[in-house]
Amino acid sequence: MNRDITEAKRAEVELQIAAAAFQAHLGIMVADARGNILKVNETFKRITGYSDAEVVGNNPRMFSSGHHNAAFYRRLWKRVMATGSWEGEIWNQRKNGELFPEWLTISAVYDADGVLTNYVATMSDISERKAAEEEIHQLAFYDPLTSFANRRLFMDRMETALIELNRHQRCGALLVIDIDRFNHINDTLGHLAGDQLLQRVAQRLGKMLRDTDTLARLGSDEFAVLVEGVDVSPRQTRRLAEHIAQKLLVALDEPIKFAKEQVMVTACVGITIISDSQRSAEDYLQQVDMALLQAKANGRRVIRFFDPSMQATLLIQVKLEADLRQALRRHQWRLYYQPQVNRFGHFTGVEALLRWQHPERGMVSPGEFIPLLESSGLINEVGEWVIEDACRQLARWAATPFLRELTISVNISPLQFRDSDFLSRLQQIFIRTKAPLERLKLEVTETLFVEARDDARDKMLSLKAQGVRFSLDDFGTGYSSLAYLAQLPLDQLKVDQSFVHQVLESSANAAIVESTIALAKSLNLDVIAEGVETEQQKAWLLAHGCNTFQGYLFGRPMPVDAIEKALMVQPS
Ligand code: C2E
Ligand code: CA
Ligand code: CA
Repeated sequence: MNRDITEAKRAEVELQIAAAAFQAHLGIMVADARGNILKVNETFKRITGYSDAEVVGNNPRMFSSGHHNAAFYRRLWKRVMATGSWEGEIWNQRKNGELFPEWLTISAVYDADGVLTNYVATMSDISERKAAEEEIHQLAFYDPLTSFANRRLFMDRMETALIELNRHQRCGALLVIDIDRFNHINDTLGHLAGDQLLQRVAQRLGKMLRDTDTLARLGSDEFAVLVEGVDVSPRQTRRLAEHIAQKLLVALDEPIKFAKEQVMVTACVGITIISDSQRSAEDYLQQVDMALLQAKANGRRVIRFFDPSMQATLLIQVKLEADLRQALRRHQWRLYYQPQVNRFGHFTGVEALLRWQHPERGMVSPGEFIPLLESSGLINEVGEWVIEDACRQLARWAATPFLRELTISVNISPLQFRDSDFLSRLQQIFIRTKAPLERLKLEVTETLFVEARDDARDKMLSLKAQGVRFSLDDFGTGYSSLAYLAQLPLDQLKVDQSFVHQVLESSANAAIVESTIALAKSLNLDVIAEGVETEQQKAWLLAHGCNTFQGYLFGRPMPVDAIEKALMVQPS
């Protein structure tokens, strides 16, 4: 065909080509209408490594790397035919066999009559730019410590997987693996070894997975696995996911060895099954987090599946916490009082027990909200209200004949006690209420003395100097050292109700109560038994030297007017 064009036209085309070829940083190749190479420039030869003799007369197919399939080339040429040009990234092969990416532009050249005469291809070697991109990609999408995917890439894979799963009506599974007590390991080993440990864990997990599974490190010691397109049945998928989780845990069973020591690592796994296209990647991640939380709450090396009731529980908790924040402002806190009696059944004091008057749920017991108050930090504020209310009550009773001798015991959470403002808050309350402090008893638990013992002791001593007394609540359930207990300014031991309930049935419990009473005597402390429900229990306690009681046998916790009424009518 090109034989048909005139000399003049050929010269014109040559000129065009020559002009373009001046752009020396671009490789240029000119081919005839059949695609045979007529001419290449210096840059082209430098990039590909071929000489003129080796390329002229050949088809550009000689540079093909095998990286792209036939469909790719078909599309490319179709586009050149339709629009006159194509540009894009393409992988070719140099003479030395090396594959490299280039940015390629192919243009068709037509003569004045519209007849195709030549193809001109310009190309630039973008392998360096690609390498830089790779590095950026690596940083942006991979965890530098383990080289597995990071959270961003993982979320990306999740999104893609959701579309695929949806299209093919298949299920997948999402697993999150979290190392048990990693912070502890990290602190004892040091952070360098902690990092190594994470790498080893990642390697072991990685070995257990198939190529199609995605392993990622989501956060410090949290790994995630996405298992795609497993099965159409959620139940089968569930079985498989559990099997994978087990395998992962077994992979960690072998201790991890360091130069000097070896460490046992266990982990918990949360799992959720992906089957519903309506949900987003974020939703599934939230589900699996809930499952993991449940697993963690059940100890070490535990596997838990997400189930919708977890979500319901969480929502209830969230709502409860929101309501708790409002409770003080809405005046929903109440103090109930439970009588404490001596051997004759006379009231000697009361324990103040917090109740929440909830608009929809009625009177809520502390078991449901104290942990939430503690985890949300609200305990200080609410605890302050309790102490103030109890102190006002003491001040009022001090002016009333039948009631002026009564003590009030107030429960203090360790978190409250540890707060640096605790003493000054109390001081303010004492000033405001003018309560007789020798009738105020603070109930503390042994957990208070597990950490920062000296701080706790100092605070107790300072309060003690003002007349405040201390009772050690739930005694026997903790594990503080007796030697240390002896140094605390305590006034009373309170035998935990779990022992009292069993005192007649279990000789072990009876032995604990007996030795608690003996311990109290030897430390010169009062002793009170809580949870006394029957005359038999009372009789046993009396016979073993315990003379003060609290429990349903003598009265349940009740509002203040009820307690006052009960006191007025009691036999003297
Ligand atoms: P606790 O200090 O051990 O309080 C005794 C609990 O046992 C109370 O439950 C009381 O109602 C119950 N009880 C009393 N006598 C009997 C009995 O004969 N049999 C049985 N089965 N139970 C009996 P409540 O009021 O639900 O309080 C539970 C826990 O909540 C308390 O345990 C205490 O640890 C905490 N708490 C209550 N009020 C406060 C408060 O104002 N501040 C703080 N920080 N904690 C509080
Ligand atoms: Ca108590
Ligand atoms: Ca108790």
